[in-house]
Formats: sequence, C-alpha cells, structure tokens
Amino acid sequence: MRIGITPDDEYIKTEKVPGPTKEEIRTIVLSKLHIQEDDTIVDVGCGTGGLTVEFAKRCKKVYSIDVNVDAINTTKANLEKFNLSSNVEVLEEDGASALEHIDGFTRVMIGGSGGNLKDIIRIGYDKLPVGGRLVTTSIVLETATDSVEVLKELGASVEVVTLNVSRGIILKRGVMMKALNPITIVSATKV
Ligand code: SAH
Repeated sequence: MRIGITPDDEYIKTEKVPGPTKEEIRTIVLSKLHIQEDDTIVDVGCGTGGLTVEFAKRCKKVYSIDVNVDAINTTKANLEKFNLSSNVEVLEEDGASALEHIDGFTRVMIGGSGGNLKDIIRIGYDKLPVGGRLVTTSIVLETATDSVEVLKELGASVEVVTLNVSRGIILKRGVMMKALNPITIVSATKV
C-alpha cells in the first residue's frame, strides 16, 4: 500500500463535487491533525474523498460525512479504487447531526459546513477527549475567523496558518509558477 500522499490526478473526480483537496494541502492537514494510528477521525464534508483516503491509510477508523449524495458516491468510489473501504463508514448526513450520534472519535476534520460551522465545531469539540485535535480548512476568510472565534470561546489553544502554494508549469523557455487558491487551516487541541 502507498504510505505517502496520493497524487491529485489519481482520484476519481466529478464536476458535481469539490475536491480532492490539493496534495500539498492534504499533507499539511495530516500534519496539523497530529494523526496517530489508533485515531478515530470524523471527516465532515468529505467531498471527493481526498482527505478521507489519506485518513483511511493511516488511522484505525474513519467516518466520512457529506450532505451531497454525489460526494458520498464519489468518496465510496475512491475508497474502492484504492482498496481502503474496510475501516471507513460513509454517511449522507449533516455534519452536526452526525457528530451528535458518533462516539469515540479522537480527531475532527471540517472541510465543509454549509453555514453551520460554529455548531459543528461546538459539538465536535465538546465530544473530543482531552488532547484530541480539531482542524478546519477555509477558502473564505470568514469561516477561518469564525473557527478561531468559537474555538477561543471554548478555551482551546488555537493555531492558524494560510498556505500559499504555487505549482511550476514546465515550459520550453522556463518554469512558470501558477498559484493555487490560498487555504487557511485553523487547528486546535482539546484542553
Ligand atoms: N476535503 C474534500 C473536499 C471538501 S468540499 C476532499 O478532499 O475531497 C466540501 C464538502 O462539504 C462538499 O462536498 C459539501 O457538500 C460538504 N458540506 C457542506 N456543508 C456540509 C454539512 N453541513 N455537513 C456535511 N457536509 C457538508
């Protein structure tokens, strides 16, 4: 089995679903979650399954949640493609309600929230064990600042990083760097 990060172009993709989260961003997200082998992780807004695939390779158990049935089907297709279905439960559900009934998780990843971010963070953080990690990824500034605000209210120690990644396009006359959209990652440890 591949132990490194899966390249973007190996994922099954559909126009109807965002993702996969870019390879370079997935790498840092794994780092910020402080992933451990015995973790149970909830991936809220699993989309194409970009992050779910990385978690499934490394963690004991993954719950992949999305409100969009096309995302559910695409995530399942990628798990099958990479032969990673055995430790993953894929649920078509809102993140807040899924976190209410899932127990025993040690990591929460929030990559989509549909306007319900603060509730999702509160429910996830509340159920994490001390030392557990919660991470959000944002393409708009407001969801990043909302994450910081609510995590501060909850008393968590919070860390913020914006990733500005540029990829080189190899041309005859040189390498042209092309920027990806900046992504802000907010991470917190449960105290
Ligand atoms: N990390 C994913 C991409 C996430 S895109 C990957 O690597 O493939 C964000 C996803 O969040 C979308 O598929 C969207 O349907 C989902 N989403 C939005 N609001 C949600 C909510 N309240 N609960 C669960 N999923 C949600």
